[in-house]
Amino acid sequence: MEFCPKCNSVMFPTKTDNGTVKLRCRSCNYTIELEKESVEKYKIKKEIKHTPRDKTVIIEDADAVQPMPTVKVSCPKCNHNKAVYWQLQTRSADEGSTIFYRCIKCHHTWRTY
Ligand SMILES: [Zn+2]
Ligand SMILES: [Zn+2]
Repeated sequence: MEFCPKCNSVMFPTKTDNGTVKLRCRSCNYTIELEKESVEKYKIKKEIKHTPRDKTVIIEDADAVQPMPTVKVSCPKCNHNKAVYWQLQTRSADEGSTIFYRCIKCHHTWRTY
């Protein structure tokens, strides 16, 4: 975890257009260019998930770029009432977008339509 030298906020890694990774402060927009060695550890990883219908979707790991928003929803597994969520546009237009939830307590992931 890096902190902004200017305002002490947490800094988040962002990918620039030329492929390098910078740390950016979200409060004052101060940026730090990462050294080559530390770029590795901030590399934005890709996760491959298989949906029940066996479509393969690639999800950019949102955690690496920004914290995911949380929402009050009860987990079907452990009944905890907070989960992070993200939205995915499915390939066929008639299905619309799918909302995924992940319980912040037990990490159970489920989705709604
Ligand atoms: Zn700052
Ligand atoms: Zn849970």
